[in-house]
Amino acid sequence: MSSQIHSIHQQLVNKDITCTALVQEKLDLLKQNTNNTVNALLDTLALDLAAKVDAKIANGETIGLLEGIPFGIKDVYMVQGTYTTASSDLLKNYKSAYTATAIQKLLDAGAIPLVKENCDSFGHGSSSENTIFGAVKNAINPDLVGGGSSGGSAVNVAKDYTVFSIGGDTGGSVRQPAGYNNVYGLKPTYGRISRYGLMAYASSTDCVGPIAKSIEDIRIVLNVMSGKDAKDQTTYASAEITPDSIANSNTIKTVGYFKNFIENDSIDATIKADFLATIEKIKAKGIAVKALDFFESETLVSTYYTLAMAETASNLSRLDGTNYGNRIESDNLKETYAVTRSENFSEETKRRIVGGNQVLSQGFSDAIYLKGLALRDAIAENFEKDFSAVDIIISPVTPNTPPKIGDSLKDPHAMYLSDAYTVGFSLGQLPTLTVPQGTATGLQITAAKNNDELVLKFANFLKDTI
Ligand code: GLN
Repeated sequence: MSSQIHSIHQQLVNKDITCTALVQEKLDLLKQNTNNTVNALLDTLALDLAAKVDAKIANGETIGLLEGIPFGIKDVYMVQGTYTTASSDLLKNYKSAYTATAIQKLLDAGAIPLVKENCDSFGHGSSSENTIFGAVKNAINPDLVGGGSSGGSAVNVAKDYTVFSIGGDTGGSVRQPAGYNNVYGLKPTYGRISRYGLMAYASSTDCVGPIAKSIEDIRIVLNVMSGKDAKDQTTYASAEITPDSIANSNTIKTVGYFKNFIENDSIDATIKADFLATIEKIKAKGIAVKALDFFESETLVSTYYTLAMAETASNLSRLDGTNYGNRIESDNLKETYAVTRSENFSEETKRRIVGGNQVLSQGFSDAIYLKGLALRDAIAENFEKDFSAVDIIISPVTPNTPPKIGDSLKDPHAMYLSDAYTVGFSLGQLPTLTVPQGTATGLQITAAKNNDELVLKFANFLKDTI
């Protein structure tokens, strides 16, 4: 699909539509939607901002490319004065005191926030069923899950309720729901976009990621949100990615894929066949394709979950009903903490807090947590070696197609294994993009650190190739 941002911008400038009518139309769609994508509508704010854009256009003033473009925000981002619930009982009544840097940059560019979007609570999940607002339903087949954790964001984009949405990706939460709903979703290089104001899940892999229907819209939104931020010491300055720089793919000579992802009993037969057919099409364009060795999926998933649980147990310790969260009073302070956290966290979140505290505790941390850290280093080294031999790595996004609503809740271990292809790239902190092509749940394109431009370039090439 071509850029919706460019086309809406042109319609606004030509006065074919008003911003108010556009925003109202999207708000109505969101209000009526039956996919459970909405935690809160930002209707007053959105309509106020739209009126200002219309006034500017009426005065003959020029507007920026993102000015008046409606977008959605996963409900884990601070937007001052709005509820930020993380889809949890604990923060059901929590209002943000400030605005996340990435979101502020979009607001400064004139984009219009419509909605705080449903997701797995605190980013914990792969199906957007771990939420107090009801399971998000898949955009293509509402009996299936929307994917997670940024399920509401991906479904809103797929359904055209938002032009783009901002998800968060710790271990696949932008890429997997993008794949399940046939849209683009980017996890940029770790540190390219500030995490300030994104509720912390696993701080060492948390990334801000855009979801949209075209590569061009991903590019535009990525550029606006990127950059060094004094409020997040892991951020770095990056060069703007121009349309020209990603137009021509002739610098890409070699593409790799992980043999063990494909030659594996747990991959769906059709996803495997489609992936292998894609490889043949790439080869037919004169690009060399190399099969690479990699860690077993089980190792990737256990390493990721060991570290993610440890980090989330630590990050969520502040949510005890004192400074944050719905407090449930009990006999004494200790009991009050216990009851507040037991009653207000979901089963899945509690599983992770217990697991995380276990792997960090004395007597276990050497054998489990430190081993996880060592494995992460080994995974990163493996990527470095791979990217000296290939320009791009491609993989399916998921081993299987989206499960029926209800199935993942019955079997959390199966849900964790559905992250087999996404978590490794998160541990490597690499830029990786889901494109809605190649297999039923898309393809994942990954490049070396800080090479987000190459990822978009290859996506452009694939768009015309397969
Ligand atoms: N499904 C993975 C998890 O539950 C990834 C979630 C995410 O990226 N926030 O941890």
